[in-house]
Amino acid sequence: MSKLKPEEWAAQVVKQKEIDKYLINGKSFIDEETINKKLASNQNPDKQFIRDIIKKSLSITRLDPDETAALLNVKDEDLWEELYEAAGEVKRKVYDNRIVFFAPLYCSNLCVNSCLYCGFRKENPDEKRRILNMEKIKKETECVIGEGHKRMIVVYGEHPLSDADYMADSIRAVYSVKKKAKHGYGNIRRVNINAAPMSIVDLSKLHKVGIGTYQVFQETYNRKLYEKIHPAGPKSNYLWRLYSLHRAMDAGIDDIAIGALFGLYDWRFEVMGLLYHTIDLERQFGIGPHTISFPRVTPAIGSELSTQSKYLVNDADFKKLVTVLRLSVPYTGLIVTVREKPGIKREVIKVGCTQTDASTKIGIGAYSEKANPKDDDTQQFTLGDTRRLDEVIKEFADMGMIASFCTAGYRCGRTGDKIMGLLKECVEGKFCKLNAALTFREYLNDYASEETRVVGEKVLLKEIEKIKTMPFYQEHNIVQKFNQYYERISNGERDLYL
Ligand code: SAM
Ligand code: SF4
Repeated sequence: MSKLKPEEWAAQVVKQKEIDKYLINGKSFIDEETINKKLASNQNPDKQFIRDIIKKSLSITRLDPDETAALLNVKDEDLWEELYEAAGEVKRKVYDNRIVFFAPLYCSNLCVNSCLYCGFRKENPDEKRRILNMEKIKKETECVIGEGHKRMIVVYGEHPLSDADYMADSIRAVYSVKKKAKHGYGNIRRVNINAAPMSIVDLSKLHKVGIGTYQVFQETYNRKLYEKIHPAGPKSNYLWRLYSLHRAMDAGIDDIAIGALFGLYDWRFEVMGLLYHTIDLERQFGIGPHTISFPRVTPAIGSELSTQSKYLVNDADFKKLVTVLRLSVPYTGLIVTVREKPGIKREVIKVGCTQTDASTKIGIGAYSEKANPKDDDTQQFTLGDTRRLDEVIKEFADMGMIASFCTAGYRCGRTGDKIMGLLKECVEGKFCKLNAALTFREYLNDYASEETRVVGEKVLLKEIEKIKTMPFYQEHNIVQKFNQYYERISNGERDLYL
């Protein structure tokens, strides 16, 4: 833990050298003039051009900025229907009928920054500050495991008390918990983190303790606005944040996740920003982001910006932006969170989202402590969907979807450029299909309510029939091994994967 005072600590976070090394001729990959020009020059795109773009996307090839700009400019609602259809098809091709579940764990709301949209900003007097110790983190983890989760994303404010050493300890604490379940035990098998940008040395510490994905949202790619709404603290440095994931790559973390906070600025511009971010990572490291997130700003206590921004995105535009992202980066995971209400969540899952959370609590200590209505102010923002995982899984099973808790790719070395290659060739999806079925079996046996088990069982059996007849599995002699694992899991063994 750092011995510096918060202000002193904050002042030494940014390392200019670790920004400069990624710039090209002193410039970043976000050229606002170019983005605006592309959006302007692709107004009223030709129908045939849009259909050609759809074809390209269906061949699981990333789109170019002009193509994405053209999609963003489609006005014809019938053509949008074709785009929704195509986005759904791309998703099925790469990710099939699976939806991956995770749970966030908020460890601390101490923060040295002043983000105008966030309840955790340091000036907010209504926020009760709290940081979890390792015992408490283990208790919270037990509760999350008790819901049936296997994947977690750990979230922190930026503060010397929650520095990289604290993060490393907290990740170790989460991995150490094993909790008895109905037929075996449950544990968190993959810990991702959402945390402030760090130096390469600090990121290496996280890499060593085995983090899964490192996620940082740029919030907005518009630099002027960025600087206005992040008036103080290390987060006020736009470029330090813009290159946080480049540094992660250099620290050996090759599973990285980008995102923008929609509602701060024009959504079309932000989609272009996310695309340019992807392109630059691919150009500099040969791999793009593992996932893209597009949280919409939701009301945060004491934050006028979170309710009054003139760029807040409505549901119709939200669906459009997810569709364009699905088509633009066909092989990348897309995350929708419980910031969204159930109805719109279903819509965006149909057009391309691949991961979501459930049973989520974002108050510090909220999983293991009895809810106190007054503690709403310790939340960072408001949730649109507070349903339990069991209920959400049933909802998706009713739609024919398999809930997946698969963490095998990461543990079998299918990460970074390897997983990207496999996703592009639609091979990783085939392994995920098997591991999704195995982990869904575990969930149904250990955690599901009777109602969910009945519906889930039907979808799972259908899935297994498909697995048995798919040529890919026959050709690679995988069916027999799958059958063995499935049998062993049904008999109480846990954590078997292919
Ligand atoms: N402190 C770290 C940072 O800012 O990168 C990580 C944690 S922060 C709690 C995680 C994300 O929450 C932010 O990147 C931001 O996009 C999102 N967020 C903040 N305020 C929000 C709000 N009012 N509504 C929705 N999302 C919000
Ligand atoms: Fe702190 Fe992150 Fe909230 Fe900004 S978004 S105030 S950095 S917790």
